[in-house]
Amino acid sequence: MNYKLSEEHLMIQQAARDFAQTELLPGVIERDEKQEFPAEQIKKMGELGFMGMMVDPKYGGSGMDTISYAIAMEEISKVDASASVAMSVNNSLVCWGLETYGSEEQKQKYLTKLATGEKLGAFCLSEPEAGSDATSQKTTAIDKGDHYLINGTKNWITNGSTADYYLVIAQTYPEKGHHGINAFIMEKGMEGFEIGPKEQKMGIRGSDTHSLMFTDVKVPKENRIGEDGFGFKFAMKTLAGGRIGIASQALGIAAGAYELAKEYAKVRKAFGKEIYKHQAIAFKLADMHTQIEAARHLVLKSAWDKDNGENYDLSGAMAKLYASQVAMDVTTEAVQVHGGNGYVKEYHVERLMRDAKITQIYEGTSEIQKIVISRGILRD
Ligand SMILES: Cc1cc2nc3c(=O)[nH]c(=O)nc-3n(C[C@H](O)[C@H](O)[C@H](O)COP(=O)(O)OP(=O)(O)OC[C@H]3O[C@@H](n4cnc5c(N)ncnc54)[C@H](O)[C@@H]3O)c2cc1C
Repeated sequence: MNYKLSEEHLMIQQAARDFAQTELLPGVIERDEKQEFPAEQIKKMGELGFMGMMVDPKYGGSGMDTISYAIAMEEISKVDASASVAMSVNNSLVCWGLETYGSEEQKQKYLTKLATGEKLGAFCLSEPEAGSDATSQKTTAIDKGDHYLINGTKNWITNGSTADYYLVIAQTYPEKGHHGINAFIMEKGMEGFEIGPKEQKMGIRGSDTHSLMFTDVKVPKENRIGEDGFGFKFAMKTLAGGRIGIASQALGIAAGAYELAKEYAKVRKAFGKEIYKHQAIAFKLADMHTQIEAARHLVLKSAWDKDNGENYDLSGAMAKLYASQVAMDVTTEAVQVHGGNGYVKEYHVERLMRDAKITQIYEGTSEIQKIVISRGILRD
């Protein structure tokens, strides 16, 4: 066992940290206030190789491992979770799904552009009546020979209006249940593809979340991913890896809030001494540090599992469940350590507390992670 990060991992960590400090930190409060998508920053992240980190260089990716991706996600999320969710969706849902299950033509046409960050991707599974219960897909994809006709509504789609390519899950054979579901690549601008208004959110307010409406959208047959009826498995496999990304995001939000709280505790004085010298505050920091370290171990273990061909369904679900709880606990305590200053925007921790909550909801709620974990441990 080796608990040390390699030289390469440390370099990636430093590069992501520098980028977050110089490019994401300026303006992060204003973007949150205005619900402004960090478009320019995401473009630069593409140029630096952060948008297709694990993709083979022959398709324009950075050819890195999942550990590198988790480390970079943590650093970006310490500062701007709205940027990191765009990064996470593009990397672990869209690029990974296409590279693993797409045809060579799909990879050449779409993945090469997504992996370089030239184009942005979205992953469209959730519907008004199908969230945790993703099998209840109402969006239909009718086979018309050389194309499918897609009708329905997707909601809560991250990168909803800013994406160029959308992976869309839809039902082709309702009588077959989840075996009748397919996954498709749609392009923005296809006839009948409509984007709803932006959601007004509590956190990750810079992230671009929309409903999408499809009316007779004609999708060529060559845009179906995998065999006929593979769509549900595609979605579940892809989300299993996505959870490592969201767990890393939760870890980063927690670590960012902890670092701010620690620094604040060293300079703020009360009763004639720095507040960290009051044991109540020192113990809070001790708890936060311990929780973050435990979350980091789970996150990196799940990334290691994925890199080493081990099953990561269970470890990814545990990492997401635990890291998202840590994000909630640590950000709440970070606000407390800041006192009144924690409650105002300029100290950043109130934003991190609002951002933390989503990590317990998307890519499978905490309740759903417990279902995955309990099934995993009780299987035999
Ligand atoms: C900001 C944001 C961004 C998102 N981005 C995307 C995206 O890019 N693509 C996409 O496809 N989706 C996206 N989602 C959707 C997200 O994945 C769903 O909101 C989530 O899966 C929960 O589904 P739901 O909202 O329908 O809640 P529901 O499924 O209605 O759940 C409501 C509550 O019931 C609980 N519950 C449900 N079933 C069970 C059960 N069997 N046992 C115990 N408890 C249960 C849930 O845990 C939850 O607490 C996003 C959501 C948000 C808010």
